[in-house]
Amino acid sequence: MTAKGHMTLATTVALISFNTLPYFLLLSFKKLGIIYFSAIIGSIFPDIDEENSYIGRRLPLFSIITSSIFKHRTLTHYLILPLIIAIAGLFTSGLNQLICFSFAFGILMHDVGDMLTKGGINGFFFPLFSNAKIALLPRALRFYTNSIAEYMIILFLTAINLFLAYLLIKRILH
Ligand SMILES: [Zn+2]
Repeated sequence: MTAKGHMTLATTVALISFNTLPYFLLLSFKKLGIIYFSAIIGSIFPDIDEENSYIGRRLPLFSIITSSIFKHRTLTHYLILPLIIAIAGLFTSGLNQLICFSFAFGILMHDVGDMLTKGGINGFFFPLFSNAKIALLPRALRFYTNSIAEYMIILFLTAINLFLAYLLIKRILH
């Protein structure tokens, strides 16, 4: 999935949560902003293992090091990464905890996005099932990265995203 796809997916799920889950209904606009921003960064972070990705081009040194150690769609795409970050978050509090959880959520949403592509993620449950390719739908329903199908999904999610942002802002202003 492209960076645009990852960001759109993560922000749509974040906005659905902001509009429906009681926990978020009580949070300040500032905190929602921090969650939203951390989720966006998390949603593009795993592709740091690919020098030519959106984030790889912005953090070239970090990306060159990561991509020379790991193959694309390996360690930075495994479930263990958001789990470790979320567990680390349990040992912090306040805004740091919020950032850890939101960043971990963003990474998880990245993985969901990649698992909707034809490629899926090999070894997602590392260290378990290390040779299993994990995906979310039957292959025929998944799409190729950067394909017309992906752009249609991005367009659809963007429309939902804008509507949910409108609902949220309306609620906050009233
Ligand atoms: Zn990826």
